[in-house]
Amino acid sequence: MSRFTDRVAVVTGAAQGIGAATALRLAEEGASVAVVDLTAERAQATVDAITAKGGSARAYGCDVTDYEAVDATFAAIADDFGAIHILVNNAGITRDNLFFKMPKADWDAVITVNLSSVYNCSHVVQKYMCAQKYGKIVSLSSRSALGNRGQANYAAAKAGIQGFTATLAIELGPFNVNVNAVAPGYIATSMTAATAERVGASAEDHQAEVAGRTPLRRVGQPEDIAAVVAFLASEDASYVSGQTLYVNGGAR
Ligand code: NDP
Repeated sequence: MSRFTDRVAVVTGAAQGIGAATALRLAEEGASVAVVDLTAERAQATVDAITAKGGSARAYGCDVTDYEAVDATFAAIADDFGAIHILVNNAGITRDNLFFKMPKADWDAVITVNLSSVYNCSHVVQKYMCAQKYGKIVSLSSRSALGNRGQANYAAAKAGIQGFTATLAIELGPFNVNVNAVAPGYIATSMTAATAERVGASAEDHQAEVAGRTPLRRVGQPEDIAAVVAFLASEDASYVSGQTLYVNGGAR
């Protein structure tokens, strides 16, 4: 299967977790992948995993909350690979707390990293995509967009991504750019391991508890999300735009 032959993909926050799995999946299907994370050193492990399997990738250090840095990094990527066809807005953080205890700094950090970064990367990349009349933008929302205790900041950011996605699909559709979002449920990564630690549980116990109340009786793995992102970034989804696809094992 080589759905992404001759395609160039940028995946943000791709040093680990869902971003790393997505970078690997896109590369396995033929894409050249720009692996973006806060430092190129952190991104290098994903690049090494891709190249070990015969894929093409390069590491870039970029804080996606910094518009100028994103602009410069994407220019370097376009220069290195010749184009940008796919953007996966994956970088994200949590700073969970009940709202009455939530410091303004934690509100600002979560909105900036999870939502304003999506503005930055999408705004920069649309120049390339509209000019070439081809592009796929896939952003990571979350099941938490529907409401989740202790995540007022994160839920606001992830719900914002859904409205942004629906709107950008309208504006960029005439340029043959598809814009979609994926809203994962509980995925086993260091982000959810940190959640377990915060509530005083081991990662294993926390996952077992979540699996027990999930219809498919397991938590998600990064590869479950990578497969759906790859679908939305591919021609298999060429008539899908403006959608948010929940990927959560059937949970309500
Ligand atoms: P991880 O914390 O494992 O990975 C996120 C990556 O993003 C890290 O490498 C992190 O770097 C990087 N990152 C953070 N801030 C920036 C920044 N400003 N610029 C560039 N890179 C940055 O998260 P997951 O893989 O679990 O999550 C990936 C995405 O999926 C996120 O958007 C998350 O909100 C979303 N999601 C995750 C779910 C889950 O259950 N895991 C559920 C629903 C949505 P560093 O580690 O150095 O900070």
